[in-house]
Amino acid sequence: MLSQITKVTSATTLRWIFKISVFVLTPGIFFLFQCTENTTEDENRIMTINGPIDADSMGLSLIHEHVFLDWRPADSTNQADWNQEAAYQSILPHIQVLKKFGVRSILECTPNYLGRNILLLQKLADASGIQFITNTGYYGAQQNIYIPTKAYDWTAEQMADAWIHEFKYGIDESDVRPGFIKISVDPDSSLGSLQERIVRAAALTHKATGLTIVSHTGIDTAAFNQINVLVQEHVSPSAFVWTHAQNGSTAGHLRMARMGGWISLDGLGWVTPQKQDSSALYQYLTMTKALKDNGFLNRILLSMDAGWYSYGEGNNYVEHTALFTTFIPLLLKNGFTKTEINQILVENPRDAYTIRTRLLGNGS
Ligand SMILES: [Zn+2]
Repeated sequence: MLSQITKVTSATTLRWIFKISVFVLTPGIFFLFQCTENTTEDENRIMTINGPIDADSMGLSLIHEHVFLDWRPADSTNQADWNQEAAYQSILPHIQVLKKFGVRSILECTPNYLGRNILLLQKLADASGIQFITNTGYYGAQQNIYIPTKAYDWTAEQMADAWIHEFKYGIDESDVRPGFIKISVDPDSSLGSLQERIVRAAALTHKATGLTIVSHTGIDTAAFNQINVLVQEHVSPSAFVWTHAQNGSTAGHLRMARMGGWISLDGLGWVTPQKQDSSALYQYLTMTKALKDNGFLNRILLSMDAGWYSYGEGNNYVEHTALFTTFIPLLLKNGFTKTEINQILVENPRDAYTIRTRLLGNGS
């Protein structure tokens, strides 16, 4: 009897131990699995085309530049048409020259279906030693012609799946992974259905990957319409870079900065010198100073949006140098210190693009 009871007890105990083990270990194993294949190992790092690096290794960064574009609509684009060798030979000198200004990293902002060219970026990175960072996402501006028509009816979740897949497994069968999400919207008073889904897809992708959302935006209204979508998805504005914010207002910049968003004044390649007219350049100075004077030096990003070699046109290069030759001297003349410039070009890019999930209410 005793042995019978012991047997029964043992069997029951064993069953319970098994059940508890499954209960306790399965999530543990699942968690470990997630750590190895998901985002955890990339957290607090910067994702270059050659893999993740420590955020502090990003160094002086140009956060919005282009080396290659293909302006054909998305459905007509064909990578097989690209003359990679001609493009590489043509672009390399424009990249090599940046080393003398101390540039360590370039965020190449050309999206998929607009000429995102990872093979070229790999060759340029190998030859120059500069770290390139590429992107995932869709470019909605210009009435969606750079989005493949197959995606027009996709839900935000379907788009996000495609982008998250690139982050997890690499772009186009390669092991190159995106380091940020690049989207764009038209400068309209409201977001159309497709562009609203693009913004929502960016929010979902951010939550799954921790990648920063960089959106070609322009005017204030378009910027805050996107913030509304992010807020609906509980994503903090600190995960959002307002690209082409120079087309917005100072009041809008301050409002965005108070919310924690990033103000990207990034058209400096195109404002100097323009037939002796430096008013556009002074507008950049005024905007940069307004942010600094209101305590938001730590929200400013500067770049040139310069370049590039394009399919069908070849080399039409605008150098990636005006920031160094024109704007930084102007900042120094107008009371900015070298430490403050270092903050804008080194610390702010690191803080903006470090991979981490930024949700509302968690203080980030
Ligand atoms: Zn651009």
